[in-house]
Amino acid sequence: MSDRTDLVSGLECVKCGALHPPTLEYTCPDCGLDGILDVHYDLDAVAASMTPAALASRPHHIFRYAELLPLDPAGRRPPQPVGWTPIIDAPRLAQAWGLRRVLVKDEGRNPTASFKDRASAVGVARALQVGATTIACASTGNAASSLAGMAAGVGLPAYIFVPARAPEPKIAQLRIFGATVFRVDGTYDEAWELCQAACERYGWYNRNCAVNPSLVEGKKTGGLEAAEQLGADMPDWVVVSVGDGCTIAGVVKGLREMHTLGFIPHMPRVLGVQASGARPLADAFFAHADLVPVPVDTLADSIAVGHPRNWRKALKALRSCEGTFVDVEDDAILDAMRTTARLAGVFGEPAGVAAAAGLARARELGVVAADESALVMVTGSGLKDVKSALVAAGPPIDVPNDLDALDGFVK
Ligand SMILES: *Cc1c(COP(=O)(O)O)cnc(C)c1O
Repeated sequence: MSDRTDLVSGLECVKCGALHPPTLEYTCPDCGLDGILDVHYDLDAVAASMTPAALASRPHHIFRYAELLPLDPAGRRPPQPVGWTPIIDAPRLAQAWGLRRVLVKDEGRNPTASFKDRASAVGVARALQVGATTIACASTGNAASSLAGMAAGVGLPAYIFVPARAPEPKIAQLRIFGATVFRVDGTYDEAWELCQAACERYGWYNRNCAVNPSLVEGKKTGGLEAAEQLGADMPDWVVVSVGDGCTIAGVVKGLREMHTLGFIPHMPRVLGVQASGARPLADAFFAHADLVPVPVDTLADSIAVGHPRNWRKALKALRSCEGTFVDVEDDAILDAMRTTARLAGVFGEPAGVAAAAGLARARELGVVAADESALVMVTGSGLKDVKSALVAAGPPIDVPNDLDALDGFVK
């Protein structure tokens, strides 16, 4: 891969800090799996060609940010347009939670209904570029369903490892897109280990974000896009739910690059939200310590991660923008599922609305002030987990088929 045509200038190891040439695909040769790489670009060259005027004429999907992706600009891409999801003003949420302004970015509007499409689209494009014939990942559900969808778009075989508790709608997506699905009798963390070992044994292209730096670059488009869409209206805070930590690391990086390029006047602070039953990253952040894996218990399956693989990148990103963490109980997540749907019109899955619950919690704690504004990333559609939605909302009213009888039910 010495004849790169992208603008990648090097790959920095987040553990030892070594700067490697952009020829590596996965981790730092000196640090192994701990040595997750971060992609650096020639930002002067990016600034020269990714101007606002140039962007104005490009299609509204993630590949409009070609200069800031580790891909050959002429390479093949999945055909389903990913990204350019709407940002919705939510004044009633702002009023309910006591903030000046709340905006919601509805990532459920992506082709397979989650933020993960951003990473999978880049992962599949990258796999094709390096000549891979098979791609694999381990996932709590959404990375899997998005990889299955994006791989189906280009006809690339996909092998996917999911934990026993992945919700059925996500399994249905996987199967309908034709991926080979291994449901592992174990947790997500165990499924991840098995996938890692299988990629090494069979030579599959590895889509796991924590070993493959190109994937976080895909997630970065969430930050690039929010910055381009909001410009000078960028709020004080951007709120993101956190499992492995790749999403938040990517979003911070995207915001940072757009700030450096002059698209936003200030760098927002980023609030990471974990479930109280799965908060190893928040704990490591406040302890100023290395990550300690923990057993997990939360209904927010997409962030039920006890051993986040990308913890260094996530913590570094959060500290770089004066960010912080809060955690939320499952009850607060179910409450936010209702509130976000009813006051903003956005139906998010538990891990998606965990960010909304976290913003409410941060207001209660005084971490976010009443005169501040926030953008909440709702990372996945509520249709991904209808069981939780029905727990949150309750059943409909059963009535006889009789108009007079309806009188007794109409308030
Ligand atoms: C994966 C996921 C997250 C968290 O992303 P990480 O990179 O694991 O931190 C949040 N919400 C949803 C819906 C997800 O699928």
